[in-house]
Amino acid sequence: MNEQKALVDFPTRITNRVKTPCYLISSEVIRRNCELLASVQQRTGAKVLLALKAFALPAVFPLIARHLSGVCASGPIEARLGREEFGKEVHTYSPAFTDSQFERTLRYSDHIVFNSVSQWQLFRDKIPAEKKVGLRVNPGYAEVEVDLYNPCIAGSRFGVQPQDLEGVDLSGIDGLHFHALCEQGADVLVRVLKHFEQRFGHLIEKMKWINFGGGHHITRSTYDVELLVETINAFRARHNNIQVYLEPGEAVVYHAGVFVTSVLDTLTNGMEIAITDCSAETHLPDVLAMPYRPHLIGAGQPDEKAYTYRLGGNSCLAGDFIGSYSFDAPLKRGDRLVFTDMALYSFVKNTTFNGVELPDLVLLSEDKRLSVVRSFGYQDYKSRIS
Ligand SMILES: *Cc1c(COP(=O)(O)O)cnc(C)c1O
Repeated sequence: MNEQKALVDFPTRITNRVKTPCYLISSEVIRRNCELLASVQQRTGAKVLLALKAFALPAVFPLIARHLSGVCASGPIEARLGREEFGKEVHTYSPAFTDSQFERTLRYSDHIVFNSVSQWQLFRDKIPAEKKVGLRVNPGYAEVEVDLYNPCIAGSRFGVQPQDLEGVDLSGIDGLHFHALCEQGADVLVRVLKHFEQRFGHLIEKMKWINFGGGHHITRSTYDVELLVETINAFRARHNNIQVYLEPGEAVVYHAGVFVTSVLDTLTNGMEIAITDCSAETHLPDVLAMPYRPHLIGAGQPDEKAYTYRLGGNSCLAGDFIGSYSFDAPLKRGDRLVFTDMALYSFVKNTTFNGVELPDLVLLSEDKRLSVVRSFGYQDYKSRIS
């Protein structure tokens, strides 16, 4: 990422003021991202939804809801949060519902998207006429290199294949949904859309809406917004002006947050090691799952600067390392480390595994005031297990 930009949005004089560890979220960056997404809505007639899976912070829902059309949820509790705290359209997709989950999902959702014909047939008679019903389809094509995030990999459990629909009467289904992108550009959407239309194009004329899923990295500086706009407009023109939805998560809060942590101790074991007051396992899980090495403001690649450290967390997991970084000066207790692009897939995935405490959630307002949205303690740990 552009380090200058991170320093402008999260200057040291501000990151020095928070208690660590904490996620620091900028309202201003979210507003800027939402303005771009709103311009896509305005130029295409598509509706853009926030994927709650990536980011769910009710404190900024009023801000996001001013620009976007609603949320997409993955089950009853996200759907309820969307209905009660966001207050616009709620679309819910889940790979499969229990009876209870379905009943609660229905209550809080405007659109329900089923993953299979059998799930739809199981629940269809319980769905009132005013609800919109969709089917997730598998476009059979994706360019996601990490298998963990590839919904079209061989053996994928996501979405129906064309052969699953042979002989099936689709009356009652009014939309199709596909999701096959991950942090990708409009050029990839063009290719996925081509496969989607080759496989399912004959069904589109019977539909009222098509949901292009998430993974569109629209707010990245190198994203080709013009190509996205052209692609949606051409698709709508080909298909009788059908309603299109996009449901990005990452793009809504891209670069809108940092994670601020402090050095607690340093030691040497064949290399220099620093132990921080955070944990990759519990606070930055994608670092271990993806895996990736997050950008750290002011630090270089190993050996690029004079002092290289392997940064580790304060859990008992042997592999709880964030990565190796180099610094201009030796690290010491109390030094602050600021990791960038930490609003997305971060605090929504946190756990208290190993008794590691949860970081504060802090909001930076447009006029540079800090407010602690939530801090956590013993009760948060205990309430999940007793
Ligand atoms: C994860 C997910 C999204 C959001 O994806 P981003 O990569 O955060 O944009 C949207 N829709 C579905 C079905 C998803 O699984």
